[in-house]
Amino acid sequence: NVSQLIEEIKPIIEQYAEQHHINLSMKCSDLSFTADYDRVKQVFINLLTNAINYTPANGNVALSVDETDENIRIEVRDTGIGIPEESLPRIFERFYRVDKARSRNTGGTGLGLAIVKHIVDVHEGKIEIDSEVNKGTSINVYFPK
Ligand code: ATP
Ligand code: MG
Repeated sequence: NVSQLIEEIKPIIEQYAEQHHINLSMKCSDLSFTADYDRVKQVFINLLTNAINYTPANGNVALSVDETDENIRIEVRDTGIGIPEESLPRIFERFYRVDKARSRNTGGTGLGLAIVKHIVDVHEGKIEIDSEVNKGTSINVYFPK
């Protein structure tokens, strides 16, 4: 149940967004699908914390979840620093971080997206990224129902 999952992570994510002065919106219709609940929750957390970490103060982060006949689609969109095109093929590698100087202050390890990719792969889903430097990033994750 995706609404339940979102209610569970909401307090932590809202607090994190507030600390970073990010406007957060989370939208979800009443959906459910068959998957490993805790792993899917990890996907939401990793994508949302990235969006918050890589968006300067006063920016926006929006989560929306909807469905097609076959898939659940999770979209996390931010108005952050973006990912350069040449880095896109590498961001799912373990320990890869785009620009160490640029992202140093977030103190990440470069594992979050490798974990997301692994979880999506074992669920036979897929990931699409659309990003523009200094404009923002949109990540879509599809889980088959
Ligand atoms: P952690 O292991 O704590 O998640 P991390 O955030 O650095 O560390 P990933 O989540 O795997 O690692 O992300 C890899 C890199 O991709 C990040 O270091 C950052 O450079 C880039 N990145 C990920 N999400 C975004 C985003 N929404 N906007 C801009 N860059 C991003
Ligand atoms: Mg991360």
